[in-house]
Amino acid sequence: MSAPRLEIDSGKVEHNARVLVTRLAARGIRVTGVTKAMLGSPSVARALQRAGVSGLGDSRIENIERMHQAGITTPMTLLRSPMLSQAQRVVAHADVSFNTELDVISALSLAAKALGRTHSVVLMVELGDLREGLMPRDLVNTAREVLRLPNIRLEGIGTNLACRSGVVPDDRNMSELSALADSLERTLGTGLNVVSGGNSGSLDWALGDADTGRTDDLRLGESILLGCEPLHRQPIDGLHDDCITLVAEVIESKVKPSRPWGELAQAAFGDAPTPADRGDLLQTILAVGRQDTDPHGLRPPPGIEVLAASSDHLILDSGGTHLPVGAEVRFRLDYSALVRAMTSPFVDKVTTCSDDHVPFRAARAGERGVG
Ligand SMILES: *Cc1c(COP(=O)(O)O)cnc(C)c1O
Repeated sequence: MSAPRLEIDSGKVEHNARVLVTRLAARGIRVTGVTKAMLGSPSVARALQRAGVSGLGDSRIENIERMHQAGITTPMTLLRSPMLSQAQRVVAHADVSFNTELDVISALSLAAKALGRTHSVVLMVELGDLREGLMPRDLVNTAREVLRLPNIRLEGIGTNLACRSGVVPDDRNMSELSALADSLERTLGTGLNVVSGGNSGSLDWALGDADTGRTDDLRLGESILLGCEPLHRQPIDGLHDDCITLVAEVIESKVKPSRPWGELAQAAFGDAPTPADRGDLLQTILAVGRQDTDPHGLRPPPGIEVLAASSDHLILDSGGTHLPVGAEVRFRLDYSALVRAMTSPFVDKVTTCSDDHVPFRAARAGERGVG
C-alpha cells in the first residue's frame, strides 16, 4: 500500500458512534454525526447512520454535496453559516443550516423559493465562546423576522462552545440556552424542533449529573472519530482511540549525533530549538512532513520520539528499535494532525471495516505498535 496513508476503520467509528448515541439517548439527546474531519466520506457517513445518528452535519457544502451524490439520504445540516455566494448550493443540498445573519437567511429564502423547496434554519446563540452566534438579546427579534420569510422554517436554536475560546459548557450557559428556547416559544407562539447543545465539548456536561433541560441534540465529530473528549483530551470510557491511524514509511535510518554542528542561523521553519546533547542516537527519517499533517499532533508508538519535522521529513529518535528503510511506522493523531492529513493530497485515505462485533477489549489487545 502507498504511504503516507490514513487508515480509517469505519467499524470502530461505528462502535464509538453507537456507544455515544446510546448514552445520550438515555438523556433524551439525539446525535448529529459530524463528517467534516472526514471530508464527507460516504463510508464514514454510512457507519454513522448504522450507529443510529439522527442526521449528518458538516461545515462545508462541498462535503454535503459529496454525500448527497453518493446516495446518502438523511437530514443534512450545514454547520457553518452559509456564505451569501453559496445560498443556492446550500438550499439545493442541505436540509438545515446554522445561521446568524438575516441577510443570509433572506438569500436562502429567495433561493428556496426559486427551487420550490423549504429550507430549515437553526439560529445560533452566542453564549461566551465568541465564535458564531447572535447575542441573546437579539434572538427574539431575529427569530420574528425569520418567521416572516417565505420557504424558510425556524427549526430551532443552538450554541457552540469550547471552540474558539475553550469556554466550558456548564449549568449556567446551558441553562441559559434552555431558558432562551422557552422564552422564544412563549413570545412567538411557535415550537422549536431542535435545541442543539454544542459539539463534543458538551459531552461531559450532557452525560454528567446536570439537568440537560431543553437540549435535545449534540453535534459530535471528534469524540466519535478519536474516542476522546476535547476539553481535557481525555479518552472516553468504552471508545476506541485508534479508529484512525497515520502510516508513514522510513527513508533513512542512521546513527547520528543528537546535536547539530557548525554555526546556527534560522531553520526552514524559523528558529529551531537546540537539542540537548544525548550522545549518538538512532535517527530515523519518515517520508511525511508539514505538508501532510501537523507533526505536533502525532503520537508515535512507545519507545519512539518525534524530534523535528520539515515540509517533507519527520525525524524520529527510534530509541532501541532499528527501523530499516521501507518499514512503516503507525501514529495516532490529534484533531489538528487529522484534519491536516485528511486535506493533504499527498496522504492516501484507506477505509477498512473491522468487525464491530469484536469485543472492545479484544480489539484493543490486537493493537500494534510499529509495523
Ligand atoms: C465542527 C463542529 C462541530 C463538531 O465538533 P467536534 O468537536 O468535532 O465534535 C459541531 N458544531 C459545529 C458548529 C462545528 O463547526
